[in-house]
Amino acid sequence: QQHDEAACKVDFWLRNLTALAQELAALNIPLLVREAPLWQDAPAVIASLCHELQISAVQVNAEYGIHEERRDAAVASALAAQGVSFHRHTDSLLFTPGSLRTRQGGYFKVFSQFRKSAWAQLETGVPPMLPSPRPQSPLLQDGQPLASDPLPTAVAGFATPPASLQALWPAGERAAQQRLQTFATQRLVSYQEQRDFPALDGTSSLSPYLAAGVLSIRQCLHAALQENAGEISSGKPGVVCWISELLWREFYRHVLVGFPHVSRHRAFKLETEALPWRDAPEDLAAWQQGRTGFPLVDAAMRQLLATGWMHNRLRMVVAMFLTKNLLIDWRHGEKWFMQQLIDGDLAANNGGWQWSASTGTDAVPYFRLFNPISQSEKFDPDGRFLHQWLPELRHLRGKGLHNPGPNPLGGLFGIADYPAPIVDLAASRERALAAFKALD
Ligand code: FAD
Repeated sequence: QQHDEAACKVDFWLRNLTALAQELAALNIPLLVREAPLWQDAPAVIASLCHELQISAVQVNAEYGIHEERRDAAVASALAAQGVSFHRHTDSLLFTPGSLRTRQGGYFKVFSQFRKSAWAQLETGVPPMLPSPRPQSPLLQDGQPLASDPLPTAVAGFATPPASLQALWPAGERAAQQRLQTFATQRLVSYQEQRDFPALDGTSSLSPYLAAGVLSIRQCLHAALQENAGEISSGKPGVVCWISELLWREFYRHVLVGFPHVSRHRAFKLETEALPWRDAPEDLAAWQQGRTGFPLVDAAMRQLLATGWMHNRLRMVVAMFLTKNLLIDWRHGEKWFMQQLIDGDLAANNGGWQWSASTGTDAVPYFRLFNPISQSEKFDPDGRFLHQWLPELRHLRGKGLHNPGPNPLGGLFGIADYPAPIVDLAASRERALAAFKALD
């Protein structure tokens, strides 16, 4: 709750744990469930479990972020006090944050330079995939096999999402592997040409599985290399482009650890904290609910509400619209995304928001703004995506669909339900430009 995790994401974790319990059972590994309501409760809970079961070593996959790192340090010291060793492994990433550095020894601030360094490192060898463990003999406690605990099916404070959303994201490693294989063998080659069109199934939709740790980044990399004769930075453009996206994920994790102020709600570029963000709750609510009067923005925001996911190009479009056209603080957008996304990830979400708001790592000098109408015409030319999410506009085509405008005739055209634009694009662009200029 402190991290604004989305209800659909918590539900996805629970569904995946159920699948995991079944796979572990086949290996005679019980899945135990212990409750630690607050971060600071974890050390005592884990220490007592180690005592109860005479555990001598604890192995974990590292998580990054201030609370997670503090928790792990506190657990390690509580365990050390009772003679239990604690081992953290790099598993959710290819590169441990801090392992790729500039020549001066600092963390990279620019993605292209980070990628160059990552490529060079991968050329020397790709991290291997490890086999699953073989079944072990059953663990005994007081002479009895140790059974798995029942798993909760819901967590207080997080509503179970509708079945239509759950069906989009089937749980379990097998489902994730299947999705990866289908994407790698059928769609990866055309990724570069198709990835920007939200009506196409052009991207992998693997982000929820990567965020939850159901799929490993190494499995993704190996699947990609398999399709590219082992080449990382050359060969099929679709594959090279997708590996680049995987490296964005690594980059933002490095940024989170190297510049920890970003995870304390601070701007990466601190000077941008002087921007005069507008306090405009009605505009924010219109954006959140997909009622801004700009079809591409509204369709994207409704996709997010209905599916827990949004296409990458649209994440940039709606983020720039909020932070530039509406001049609303990126932190409101970051929080709303986190509360809705099934793939919510602090590093990627914060990185994406700050990049879009020009408070982050974008190498382009201070201002970049997508026009939601021209983006719509370019990336959804026949309006398929708009029609899917905005049924009230289904009878519109062409320019009238991408930009229905103030709709002065209201109900005559049957779009009385659709709002007039809440902001003037040209004037708001100038307002944002002036605000950024004033920082100089
Ligand atoms: P693909 O195009 O198939 O890419 C493969 C994988 O690479 C993704 O699953 C993801 O793990 C990683 N990836 C791709 N693009 C990026 C990127 N720009 N930054 C970091 N990782 C990337 N991604 C998240 O996983 N969680 C978030 O909370 C998140 N929030 C975002 C917020 C904003 C404002 C923006 C602009 C981007 C955000 N992204 C986030 C990045 C990106 O939009 C999603 O990872 C992508 O849309 C997921 O779809 P996919 O799995 O089909 O991606």
